[in-house]
Amino acid sequence: MTDSAEGGCLCGALRYRVSGIPVAATLCHCADCRRASGGTNIAWAVFEAGDFEWLAGEPADFSSSPGIHWLFCPTCGSTVGYRRSERPNHMDITTGTFDEPGRFPPDVEIWVKEKIGWEALHPGLPKRERSSLNEPTGADHPGGSLTRTADIALFSYGTLQLSEVQLANYRRELDGSPDALTGYRLISLADRDPDAVRISGTKTHMVVRRTGDPADRVPGMVYWLSEEELAATDRYEGRDYGRAELTLESGRTALVYVEPDEGD
Ligand SMILES: [Zn+2]
Ligand SMILES: [Zn+2]
Repeated sequence: MTDSAEGGCLCGALRYRVSGIPVAATLCHCADCRRASGGTNIAWAVFEAGDFEWLAGEPADFSSSPGIHWLFCPTCGSTVGYRRSERPNHMDITTGTFDEPGRFPPDVEIWVKEKIGWEALHPGLPKRERSSLNEPTGADHPGGSLTRTADIALFSYGTLQLSEVQLANYRRELDGSPDALTGYRLISLADRDPDAVRISGTKTHMVVRRTGDPADRVPGMVYWLSEEELAATDRYEGRDYGRAELTLESGRTALVYVEPDEGD
């Protein structure tokens, strides 16, 4: 087991070991994580249950609602694990209790709708209003289930920001965060693929053009899409656009639809 990692609670009575890589790694801002930890959020790494074992101690189990179990040290109270009956094959571990707590960094921030107002978000991580993109009922928590599937950053400066366009293309509304493209400005695109006009209901379409002038700035939103959703976006944008990977004002890179001869 070359890739195992160990951790434990504050007093050391509870010790555990995981192997393999997490199926998901999240930073959760939900109110339950806040209460359970006493902190502002919890970073979780979700492992296959078969890749997890207790080495010492026996966790106490608090069920906050049916099927949801928080596992903590009965002596010192550290929250170490979380289990959910809907995901019986998973063991969620608080990454702060690992001996090397930096080893499994989160790749998505979840439940940002419940975060404390003053709490800063990570500029480089995708955000979810709740836990999982594809479970609109809010199927809670830590790992959600599909956090790794929508991990392609796309910067939209146009009609993709409209909820009706999102619903038509993806059958869901996207969570996003504001960003901007500097050194570019918007120009109008006269000729438009007729299908896209039908969905968005407008004929005025714009495209970004590079000027290199730092005073030029195009605001928009960054969204996270799955491969399938990116393909749907390609179909929506049509032949009028190419696609390029560009660096945004925040410093992150994202795919951007550009004039056809500028894209890949
Ligand atoms: Zn303890
Ligand atoms: Zn949470």
